Amino acid sequence: MVLLKCPVCGGDVQVDDNALPGEVIEHECGALLEVYMKDGKLALRVAEQIGEDWGE
Ligand SMILES: [Zn+2]
Repeated sequence: MVLLKCPVCGGDVQVDDNALPGEVIEHECGALLEVYMKDGKLALRVAEQIGEDWGE
């Protein structure tokens, strides 16, 4: 598991090592977070434009 930060509430989010970019995770605060790759590592952003901007 990888421990990332929720961009909405700042809390910890556990993400599977095998998570793929584009995967959406619901955090305990209710936010929908999308996994994406940033500098070769997993990162999280708010999933509000699913299907439109896939990033890198
Ligand atoms: Zn959160």
